[in-house]
Amino acid sequence: MLQLLDGKALSLQIKEEIANEVRQLTAQGHRPPHLAAVIVGNDGASQTYVANKEKSSHEVGFTSSVYRMPEHTTENELLEVINFLNSDPEVDGFIVQLPLPKHINEQKIINTISPDKDVDGFTPINIGRMVLSEDAFIPATPMGICTLLKRYGIETSGKHCVVIGRSNIVGTPIANLLSRKGFDCTVTICHSRTTNLPEITRQADILIVAIGKPEFVTADMVKEGAVVIDVGIHRGYRIIGDVKHSEVDRLCSWTTPVPGGVGPLTIVSLLENTMKSYKKNLQIK
Ligand code: NAP
Repeated sequence: MLQLLDGKALSLQIKEEIANEVRQLTAQGHRPPHLAAVIVGNDGASQTYVANKEKSSHEVGFTSSVYRMPEHTTENELLEVINFLNSDPEVDGFIVQLPLPKHINEQKIINTISPDKDVDGFTPINIGRMVLSEDAFIPATPMGICTLLKRYGIETSGKHCVVIGRSNIVGTPIANLLSRKGFDCTVTICHSRTTNLPEITRQADILIVAIGKPEFVTADMVKEGAVVIDVGIHRGYRIIGDVKHSEVDRLCSWTTPVPGGVGPLTIVSLLENTMKSYKKNLQIK
């Protein structure tokens, strides 16, 4: 019988846990955690993401600051803001909302973020630490997927996990995380050059879909009883994912709804990473 990995409900629960901890620490006289965000330009989806991050920060008692910069901001102007945030001891973590305008070199900007404040987990240092199983900030979306699997007690050990998508922010890190000790999945990564995709995805006990194509995964691609995690978000007259839930859900043991699945956990992971940085900065165990 289909069961939902209810990201919305779980995110409310984890936010409450974070808010309780912040209340206790501030009552002891500590400053609240501080998460900052930098956004360049007027991309609608990015504005929504940053507004949601700001709202969630306030909900858990964090200080939140947003640096809104115009579309014509130069690379140097953006670097100045990043250097300022890197050196401000009262900022525990910050994110630079992607995508950046085309005239700005995205990787150069990411490489300038201090790994100790990189709560998005996008810098090469954090990605390297993650791959080496060292202490690291894990990118928020894959971290959210791991939290869903763990908190819902989904058995992963020895399972065949197929990931569709190999982006730096979702596909590649989730494939790495689930293959590591602790999750112990056998992982297959698929991408746009994969041949016989349905044949491979039908072997998945756990299917993670991060393609960016609306309702791409159909019933013929899914094994009966599979756990299906839909990372896709497509905003139209209604929000849909990368999975055609109207035909796939009847086959699944567990699935994530869209909206209300992976999305809310992504923001919560960012809060958790900020909390981790904050405690390190204040030397709180
Ligand atoms: P992306 O950077 O566009 O990567 C898409 C991946 O899918 C690429 O690796 C691409 O392969 C692969 N792909 C494209 N067409 C394919 C096909 N026909 N068959 C197999 N693989 C195919 O996307 P992303 O940033 O990972 O995001 C994926 C989706 O998740 C988007 O809808 C995005 O909006 C959503 N998202 C949601 C959250 C959240 O919080 N829920 C967070 C981030 C992203 P190649 O590498 O060969 O091009």
